[in-house]
Amino acid sequence: MKYKNAYPKYQFRRITDITVEDLRKMGAKAVAVDLDNTTVIDSSYKLPEETRKWIETVREAGIQVIIISNTWFTRAWYLGKKMGVPFIAPAHKPHTRAIRKAAKMLDVKLENIAMIGDQLFTDIISANKAGAISIRVEPMEKEKLFAGHFKKVRAREREYMKQHRAENKKGKCTA
Ligand SMILES: [Mg+2]
Repeated sequence: MKYKNAYPKYQFRRITDITVEDLRKMGAKAVAVDLDNTTVIDSSYKLPEETRKWIETVREAGIQVIIISNTWFTRAWYLGKKMGVPFIAPAHKPHTRAIRKAAKMLDVKLENIAMIGDQLFTDIISANKAGAISIRVEPMEKEKLFAGHFKKVRAREREYMKQHRAENKKGKCTA
């Protein structure tokens, strides 16, 4: 298989479907959230009300929140301010530097930080490689910007998941 470490430990439809109880069961003391198509609509500067509420609920439960995004600095800064949380951007996922830095900033072990994102080959790989908890959510909507690029990415993701399931069935353990 071309990609390693791209299989998510947990999967949900939307970030707002993940409860505080779920996070506690996973052992998460902090969550690192992706921006595009996870917490905000792709390429948007608008913070959806349901995301704002979810972040508030999670933080009130004593779970820290940080943004880890591959977007540019000023956009992450702007959305971070709206969310009231710190950020690391551009994070260059699937590299693990950002998540390792986040664990240090928030003073939690990597195994106690959950990375929540919609992309297998960036969000999930970075979490798995770093030894963090990987949570995949379905993209909020189809990407309009770089649509051709994302069409290929989503096709590769589907292929990866299919292959992974097939190899698991045969009892072969894959990354
Ligand atoms: Mg994303």
